[in-house]
Amino acid sequence: MRIITARRISQIFFVLLFIWFCMAATLGERWWQLRGWPVNWLLQLDPLHALGLWLATHTLYKGMLWGVLTLALTFVLGRFFCGWICPFGALQQLMGVLGKQGLKPAQRIARNRPHAAQWIKYGLLLFVLALAAADMMNFVVSSSRQSPLVFWGGLAAAVVGLVVLHAFQWIRMRRDVAVIVAALLTGGLLFEWMAPESRWLAASLQTGLLDPIALMHRSVNLVVVPLVDAPLKVTSALPRVYPGSLLIGLLFLLFLLLSLRVPRFYCRFVCPLGALFGLCSRWSIWRIGQAGDGCTHCLRCERDCEGACAPAETIRISECVLCLNCLDRCGHGVMGYHLTPSAAGESASPDLTRRQVVVALAAGLVGAPVMRLEGSAGLDWNPSVIRPPGALSEEAFLARCIKCGQCMRICPTNVIHPAGLQGGLEGLWAPMLNFRVGSSGCQHNCVACSFVCPTAALRPISVDERMGRGAFAGSGPLRIGMAFVDRGRCLPWAMDTPCIVCQENCPVSPKAIFTREEFRQVRGGLYMVKTAEGHTLVLQTTALRQDQYATGDYFCRYADEPPRPIAASNDDSLTLGPQPVWSRWPEPGQPIEVLIRLQQPYVDPTRCIGCGVCEHECPVQGRRAIRVTAENESRNPSHRLVLS
Ligand code: SF4
Ligand code: SF4
Repeated sequence: MRIITARRISQIFFVLLFIWFCMAATLGERWWQLRGWPVNWLLQLDPLHALGLWLATHTLYKGMLWGVLTLALTFVLGRFFCGWICPFGALQQLMGVLGKQGLKPAQRIARNRPHAAQWIKYGLLLFVLALAAADMMNFVVSSSRQSPLVFWGGLAAAVVGLVVLHAFQWIRMRRDVAVIVAALLTGGLLFEWMAPESRWLAASLQTGLLDPIALMHRSVNLVVVPLVDAPLKVTSALPRVYPGSLLIGLLFLLFLLLSLRVPRFYCRFVCPLGALFGLCSRWSIWRIGQAGDGCTHCLRCERDCEGACAPAETIRISECVLCLNCLDRCGHGVMGYHLTPSAAGESASPDLTRRQVVVALAAGLVGAPVMRLEGSAGLDWNPSVIRPPGALSEEAFLARCIKCGQCMRICPTNVIHPAGLQGGLEGLWAPMLNFRVGSSGCQHNCVACSFVCPTAALRPISVDERMGRGAFAGSGPLRIGMAFVDRGRCLPWAMDTPCIVCQENCPVSPKAIFTREEFRQVRGGLYMVKTAEGHTLVLQTTALRQDQYATGDYFCRYADEPPRPIAASNDDSLTLGPQPVWSRWPEPGQPIEVLIRLQQPYVDPTRCIGCGVCEHECPVQGRRAIRVTAENESRNPSHRLVLS
């Protein structure tokens, strides 16, 4: 079997596996739906998330150890993940094959020449890693406060070590670069030392924005599957809706279309994961290269080189995605995959200048406090951003969420959506609940999203914990927010119209929504009595509509007698129910009032869990008359509403 046939089989296998995992990440009874299938496995194989999480949280999750394995294999094999596993790489490669149809060999070679802009992906990698590592400053400062001797001793040893290494030229660093890096680190440390409570340098995990595996999950989960599934109804009976999916879908499409013009555009210029593999593959044991001096410079190897790594000359090892097309195309048997460097020479390090490194790192370290200046994770938090149950406190959540969309995909009621800028720039595409969309609110006994989250940004919770049962009875149910009645829009409060939809649908027991009864005179509801016959009052008007007041919500009041329900009404008469009994009846010419009984809703903050069922069911469409906000959520004690 040709080696590229094996590579194609591997790519098809992983694309199909990826699609199946996306299908399986749904709740249902069928065998292929979530039954412990490892639907996060491809995300866990991705070492960029593992590295980002480790920098941001100083923790490595068990599943993320797969990423360590991928990285270890990269040190042996090179960028095998890009060429053999990554489903986004495979799709781009397919687009590239379509795009080069009809091109002459020289044109194909021209498309595969190395380009100076390929450094951008390394810059993006350093940028997102610096953002994730910003919390290290806090970590260092807090350690210094806890054990100053160890901290200052360690720092002094590090400085002396660096000076010695530099003096003996074991490391070389230009003075201007060293000064800038030292100034950044010192500035950050001083910043945190002086104002530790500011938390401006808290970690922000943005690896998921551009990581290809997270990008694929997000795009396929929120755009492709909902589009395909809407008519087929295989994974969801109702069409899935995700506000914000237009931008996600457009970016996905754009990057695929660019591959028609430039093969693997995303891998070459944007992909931070590819950059990480590129940095590691400079030490890879096996590598592509020329085995001897038999090269005739026919450049057949460069016609289909996916990585633009110039295999016919000094090969850029860090750009090689191991597509192995060069091996297959070389008619002279010169190209090989072996343990020795290429006979034509090789450049192991990426084309990245020190200045570019400093700019990318500085942008990441400065970016963290600038984003925090928005205050969206602190004092200026947006109460309309309701995170799913199990979400960690906002700062910790932002240090873990990779915006993969798995929680949005699995939510059976389709209430979890990718946020826009409501939660600040760093919260872009992180999950938030929108109760206007979907088939219901957030189900009281569902914990699916917390179990599917690959990074524990939503920590796994049990149904007992969610509902405050069993061992959790003392702490009560988890609250994701609280409902507020908008009295300017609520039908019984603002429009004299009876409604108890929210109270009826509130799923907690005892109900968090209760009502208070109120009788109000209807508009123009004062009438003069003509005669009283039995339980029927004939009025001095003929303007009533047939059965206008016979709905059960209308009552009649005379003087200080209690309101009596109106059982039937005619164009000029009202027939009253038998109870309550009146001690006297109106005389001809005396006034009576027609009242409407309203049950006005109130929310009990000690019972409301913010599930949003009331908001979803409220008949006031558009902006609902009862809306849930993140106030009183359990995950942030400072957002508590009840003072006691
Ligand atoms: S919270 Fe949702 S979007 Fe974020 S990492 Fe977890 S599953 Fe992915
Ligand atoms: S469902 Fe809406 S309109 Fe009806 S009572 Fe509740 S808040 Fe008011």
